[in-house]
Amino acid sequence: MNTPPLEPGLYIVATPIGNLGDITRRAETVLASCGLVACEDTRVTGKLLNHLGIRKPMRRYDDHADSAARERLLAEMVQKAVVLVSDAGTPLISDPGYRLVREARARGIAVTSLPGPSAATVALTLAGLPTDRFLFAGFLPNKHKARVDVLRELSAVPATLVFYETGPRLVAALEAVGEVLPGREVAVARELTKLHEECRTGSAAEIAAHYTAHPPKGEIVLLVAPPAAPEAPGEADIDALLRAALAELPPSKAAARVAKAHGLDRKALYARAMDLKA
Ligand code: SAM
Repeated sequence: MNTPPLEPGLYIVATPIGNLGDITRRAETVLASCGLVACEDTRVTGKLLNHLGIRKPMRRYDDHADSAARERLLAEMVQKAVVLVSDAGTPLISDPGYRLVREARARGIAVTSLPGPSAATVALTLAGLPTDRFLFAGFLPNKHKARVDVLRELSAVPATLVFYETGPRLVAALEAVGEVLPGREVAVARELTKLHEECRTGSAAEIAAHYTAHPPKGEIVLLVAPPAAPEAPGEADIDALLRAALAELPPSKAAARVAKAHGLDRKALYARAMDLKA
């Protein structure tokens, strides 16, 4: 590909998570025009560049690289366009890059991000769970107690929870979800964008039973539905709440307190409080 050189700086480039057809045109252009590709694994990225017919110098980088290696890369960004890719998907999303971006920004180096595939967003769009709010929590810890502690910490978050998982750990993760977050619907999205893509939804126990019988292969995203909204109190409950509040407050304040605590209409509660008072 013959393309004009790019402005110097750091370019964060998302790459496919399985289906090579998901590379964006912009990603292809920037890869073809850059001066250097920093990547997690030169063999993995080499295959992608080969597929695109692009030859570029590559350098291994991860956030555990020593500061000399990072300094070298930062110095190069001042002179040329340096692309950061990960093995698959969007860099920095459970992948290296955070330290590099932070340091580049601190030094006034231009940082450009090219959007593209990420397993978390693909899974969210497939699972049929609420997407108005979601919390991406990366990988759960390996050990049972630590895993349960993280799930407890997240149990009250009013959002769909998104975790990255691996085949060998999936059933243990589902069992922990069943234990700590009982009654929540879960979804397992596997091998996204690939030949054997699947998305299975149900209770944690149902899905765990399926994958115990059919040990999962490949890459996995685990999603957990948000906690159910608390049921609105019925008329008798509202009267009881109002009576309790009226024992210490005038009707307007009693109505305001109950309305705030239960997300109810203050005016209607005030009218009811006046009736009860009478
Ligand atoms: N940066 C990547 C992204 O944007 O999705 C994620 C990198 S993280 C090290 C790798 C994890 O992402 C896998 O263990 C799996 O949980 C998830 N993942 C990556 N590709 C996937 C795919 N095709 N299907 C399902 N999950 C995938």
